[in-house]
Amino acid sequence: MALEPDRGMAHFSIDLLELSPVARPYAFDVGSAYLLEALEGTGLQPSPGAPGSLDLEAQRRGSEVLVRGRLAVDVLAECARCLEPARVAVRTDLIALFVPAGADRAVRDDDDIDVETYRGEQIGLDALVREHILVEIPMQPLCRPDCPGIEMPAHVRAPGLRDVDERIGVSAASSAVPDPRVTRKES
Ligand SMILES: [Zn+2]
Repeated sequence: MALEPDRGMAHFSIDLLELSPVARPYAFDVGSAYLLEALEGTGLQPSPGAPGSLDLEAQRRGSEVLVRGRLAVDVLAECARCLEPARVAVRTDLIALFVPAGADRAVRDDDDIDVETYRGEQIGLDALVREHILVEIPMQPLCRPDCPGIEMPAHVRAPGLRDVDERIGVSAASSAVPDPRVTRKES
């Protein structure tokens, strides 16, 4: 039985030997098995429902492989206001140039294209897909644009919240004024 240590790990991989200078199409499902693994430790979850999709074309020139396509996948983040699940629809283009790992090649300093490496005869795309998902997650995901946040019952609301706000405002303003003694000490 031939061992294929790298191949078993990758959910999305392209066989180098299938490629030519003519672009070849690929279509992958982005399913929950991949997402659970890729999103581990990020606080994100796969969204239940249909798997996402990764539609690509790949072409090879010598040992360099150009991959470009479109990623569409929904994931669940935590709403920044109410902490309930917030669905994030990731829809993004991806483009990357794969070069053999360890090849003595000057990586082009080109902002428009990721330069990635591959080993052996498989172009593994898992990490690239993960990066593209994570970069599309907003800093403050919302379950809906007008999410009011956690509703606090009226009897819990402290009276005179306004006074508290004013005190904070005053203290912030006064701390912005440099203390002359501190200034003297520093100089
Ligand atoms: Zn919310």
